Amino acid sequence: MTRCIFCDIIAGRSPAKIIYRDERAIAFYDRSPRTPVHALVVPLEHIASLNDLMPEHEALAGHLLLVAQQVACQENIAASGYRLVINTGRAAGQIVYHLHVHVMGG
Ligand code: AMP
Ligand code: ZN
Repeated sequence: MTRCIFCDIIAGRSPAKIIYRDERAIAFYDRSPRTPVHALVVPLEHIASLNDLMPEHEALAGHLLLVAQQVACQENIAASGYRLVINTGRAAGQIVYHLHVHVMGG
């Protein structure tokens, strides 16, 4: 596998402003925020994209949504509203091939 920036962040080899972490997922601020609050929810397991999600990831996929909700609460955008985005593949503009959910609001 070529070097993965999000695996590096998870391993502590690259810096990021981490705002949530548990045994299955991590969340940190996007380094180029496009909204006042812009965080990324990332599974610890390297899954390249939504296209690579398997049936055994069903619980993990649900967990990522709950972590996104938790991040929205922490960042005080739960009530005002926020958007979740999962860019998948070239035409969608996916840059980092480690599955992540954008949490955007504020
Ligand atoms: P995409 O793959 O299109 O969903 O976009 C990847 C997102 O990751 C972009 O919004 C980048 O700004 C963000 N990003 C890339 N590298 C880092 C990093 N080292 N720390 C935080 N965010 C990053
Ligand atoms: Zn990775």
